[in-house]
Amino acid sequence: MGSRELDENVINLKGIGEKTAKLFEKCGVRTVGDLLSYYPRCYDGYEIPVRASDVRPGQINSVKLTIIGSIIKRRVRNLSIIAFEAADQTGKIKMTYFNAPYLASSLKSGTTHIFRGMVQKKGSFYTMDQPKMYSQEEYASLVGRLMPRYPLVKGLTNNIVIKAVEQAFLNIGKLEEFVPQTILDRLSLIGYSEAARSIHFPENDKKLEEARRRLAYDEFLLFVLKLRLLKMTQEEISNSFPMVEVSETKRLLEVLPYKLTNAQSLAWKDIQNDLQGPSVMNRLIQGDVGSGKTVIAMLALLTTAANGYQGALMAPTEVLAAQHFENFKELIDKYNIQHLKPILLTGALSAKDKKEAQRLISEGEANCIIGTNALIQEKVSYKNLALVVTDEQHRFGVRQREALAGKGLNTHVLAMSATPIPRTLAIILYGDLHISVINELPGGRLPIKNCVVGTEYRPTAYKFIKDQVEAGRQAYVICPMIEEGEMDGVTNVVDYTETLRQNLPPDISVAMLHGKMKPAQKDEIMEAFARKDIDVLVSTTVIEVGINVPNATVMMIENAERFGLSQLHQLRGRVGRGKYQSYCIFLNTSESDDAKKRLDIMNKTNDGFKIAEEDLRQRGPGDLFGVRQSGDLNFRLGDIYHDSDLVKESAMDADRILSEDPELLSTQYSVLRDKIATKSANLVDFATL
Ligand code: ADP
Ligand code: MG
Repeated sequence: MGSRELDENVINLKGIGEKTAKLFEKCGVRTVGDLLSYYPRCYDGYEIPVRASDVRPGQINSVKLTIIGSIIKRRVRNLSIIAFEAADQTGKIKMTYFNAPYLASSLKSGTTHIFRGMVQKKGSFYTMDQPKMYSQEEYASLVGRLMPRYPLVKGLTNNIVIKAVEQAFLNIGKLEEFVPQTILDRLSLIGYSEAARSIHFPENDKKLEEARRRLAYDEFLLFVLKLRLLKMTQEEISNSFPMVEVSETKRLLEVLPYKLTNAQSLAWKDIQNDLQGPSVMNRLIQGDVGSGKTVIAMLALLTTAANGYQGALMAPTEVLAAQHFENFKELIDKYNIQHLKPILLTGALSAKDKKEAQRLISEGEANCIIGTNALIQEKVSYKNLALVVTDEQHRFGVRQREALAGKGLNTHVLAMSATPIPRTLAIILYGDLHISVINELPGGRLPIKNCVVGTEYRPTAYKFIKDQVEAGRQAYVICPMIEEGEMDGVTNVVDYTETLRQNLPPDISVAMLHGKMKPAQKDEIMEAFARKDIDVLVSTTVIEVGINVPNATVMMIENAERFGLSQLHQLRGRVGRGKYQSYCIFLNTSESDDAKKRLDIMNKTNDGFKIAEEDLRQRGPGDLFGVRQSGDLNFRLGDIYHDSDLVKESAMDADRILSEDPELLSTQYSVLRDKIATKSANLVDFATL
């Protein structure tokens, strides 16, 4: 097959019409190649159903049971609840469904079904909440298979995606290999064609892991190659925006209510040297959560403005961008900071406001532009953009830098990341950046108190949250999912908000926040939380990055075992930011020893770098089923911690390949070269562009 078939629009696949093609486009799938790398988010494995006495609590089980007794229907506020018991000769399980009136007709005492879902042990009995229900024939046809479950949008069903992917494979035949056979042999990696197919339709767990590993290697190899090539072209770029030290920054440092920590001072010195030096700055500030990176960014942006240039601050979310903007404005007013004229540019602006903002930017009246990635995309034209700061990104995306270079801009780049990466990996993944580490927290903070608990602790946790709120504090509760049904046995924000409202006194205000909300709505909620109009915020990991509400003292993380350790550390970093004692409750809903061992690390240390090292040491098989890390350094299948061996191997391979053929001109590397050049494919995108 050639790349021609892969470049074809999905609409040319049998069974895909205009409507479906549009839905695919919403998911970022335009071509057949895009479709092939539209990976399942998880897989359903259908085991042979077990008996009631053989269920494993804390895990997904399929149980064959007969409904006994009566079916109880209740309403609690706007939640309808259906409850009943189902049993076989060996035992019984209590079933509960929420807001599922459509089930009422199929639930009859005496009928037998397969119930599939998370089993919990509550006291002496077992329970299942919202299990999927199958007829025996239906289930029999599924047993033994791994069925892909794709990320979907409204109107696009899992079946449509499965059919489309099957059709795509029929059309393209065998995919061309692009990694030299010697490498595949050395690392025991399977061929590309097989991996590409197997990641969608794995025969079993083992085949799935083989496919994932192969494709993860590809991600790393392509990334490192791209990085190396970029570095070669950037090495010698001179400083087009030379700057001098300005009195404004000195004054800011004098009026701030605190002194920079030593580590902050050193990082600030590094940046000044870069900005005044002979070549363009490419620097990463790596500092644990709460180490005070924002003020460093502000100093750099102030220097830039006072030197007569523009600077931009890019945040990963609109919420965070808005928060930065408010902070900056507050400091500017409070300390009468001259020169710095910030402006917020986000998707939430009205068309008219956006136009006005763009005018201020292109005419240079605004000199500190704060927003999301959109800042460097198409429409914004700058007068003299000299510095781009990216917050909470491990690095400035390769593509973003290309986008800037494409505009003829060789701006200084300052990336700020809170995700600690072990040194060995940092050298590879940040190979093209200079690094300053802020390895010190501002003094006077109380260390966060942690606990790892099981589901039986929930009532105690709610009581604890109530006490803290009554003492004037606020709390976060994190759930992995947004709404019901995304994954079995996993808490979701929508239902949990309701649960908390029922379990907390009515004068405690509980609100929710998640990524499917409109930006303006998200901002509103975040602002209300910052104003303390909301006491308890139930959220997905959208609050992971950067939010600073020092009055919040409780972080409760549901299904904590589903998150990566570094991600848990980030979440925990949302509390402990003020003068109050803060607490982090990790709620472990799994009964597995591994999960417990992993979470115990969070109990033992608050040091992000130690956590990253431990994560690496304890790595198990790459967890495709967990909740993927959001944000940066986020490979689609690879996981820098779990696959650190592949990261290292791929770096050596990249160097070997480039030393042999620096521009990848020989025919054996032609497919590889194409892959690096294409926008889609499995190429890593660091900054979610
Ligand atoms: P992060 O590194 O996670 O982005 P922030 O920049 O948001 O951290 O800083 C966290 C809090 O610490 C802010 O309220 C900030 O004002 C405060 N802070 C920053 N530097 C210092 C310092 N040197 N001493 C005391 N407080 C500081
Ligand atoms: Mg920050």
